[in-house]
Amino acid sequence: MNQYTIDVDAKGRYSNSRGKCMARMNEGVQKQSMIQVSNIERFATHDGPGIRTTIFLKGCTLHCPWCANPETWSIQPVLLHDASKCIQCRRCETICPNHAITFPFTWKQDLCSDCRKCEDICLAEAISFSGRKMEIADLAAEVCKDWDYYEQSHGGVTISGGEPFTQFEAFLALLKACKAAGLHVAVETTGNFTQEKLLQALPYIDCFLMDCKHLDADKLAAVTGGNLALIQANFAYLSKHCPDKVIVRMPVIPRFNEDCCKDVIDYAKSLHFKEVHLLPFHTMGKSKWHQMQKDFHYEKDAMMDKESLLPYVDYGKARGIHVQIGG
Ligand code: SF4
Ligand code: SF4
Repeated sequence: MNQYTIDVDAKGRYSNSRGKCMARMNEGVQKQSMIQVSNIERFATHDGPGIRTTIFLKGCTLHCPWCANPETWSIQPVLLHDASKCIQCRRCETICPNHAITFPFTWKQDLCSDCRKCEDICLAEAISFSGRKMEIADLAAEVCKDWDYYEQSHGGVTISGGEPFTQFEAFLALLKACKAAGLHVAVETTGNFTQEKLLQALPYIDCFLMDCKHLDADKLAAVTGGNLALIQANFAYLSKHCPDKVIVRMPVIPRFNEDCCKDVIDYAKSLHFKEVHLLPFHTMGKSKWHQMQKDFHYEKDAMMDKESLLPYVDYGKARGIHVQIGG
């Protein structure tokens, strides 16, 4: 049975729950709706309630220097080159029809036509790509594979990125398809988008895992490119209309916001949100920066000790708001 096979009975009806899920999702999908996907992670347990499938979409409007997924920033596919595997045979350079690869290994995205001949010819498997255009119907099939687990664990699908709102029309189509299938839908987001987009997407989202990275507009803009006014307008709208849908997330980053945790907890409390997740700084995305031939800003920083954030759990408890360390 291949991964997209679904069970159909003698009368041509879908005969299992996965098939019914797919059928309902596809009813909500326009034919040929395409979306750029970076990765799909099954059996995720940190991106919302229960067991989930997390879809990482391409494209982001911010550029946080600690980002664990820098390959998602560009909507277009991105080449990752693993120097530790590369045997310097230069077959990739030779085969590239557009001279997008030169040595010492450099890849020019603006010259690349995404033919992937370089990936195919690399015997050392040193080249990979982040990004593939998928039909939303195929994404639906992928998501519905684990329908039984969602039902048993009260899980569902989480749409992450990048920033999911960046490919807005396709993202909206995906949201509608997920809701048509009866899935619980969580969205991991920066909140850095217009309220017009929020209003269109809101009916199809059950849970916002929404970042609050900093409350100083100048610092946020300088370091991440984020627009605090936009983000706070979205927080305010959600606070007024559906505060129970929101979990505020704060990546705690050395020398950027590590002294702002109390301010963010107070801010979340003032907006009647019930939960804040403090996400300790980690370096798990470091190799991706290297594979994109970029400097990682936090090269010398160690992973943050979770214990150091525990006092904020009590700080929240004293104020009637649940603070969790980690997602
Ligand atoms: S083909 Fe692969 S191993 Fe050879 S130079 Fe290119 S990346 Fe390195
Ligand atoms: S995908 Fe094609 S055009 Fe792009 S770098 Fe590889 S060989 Fe060159």
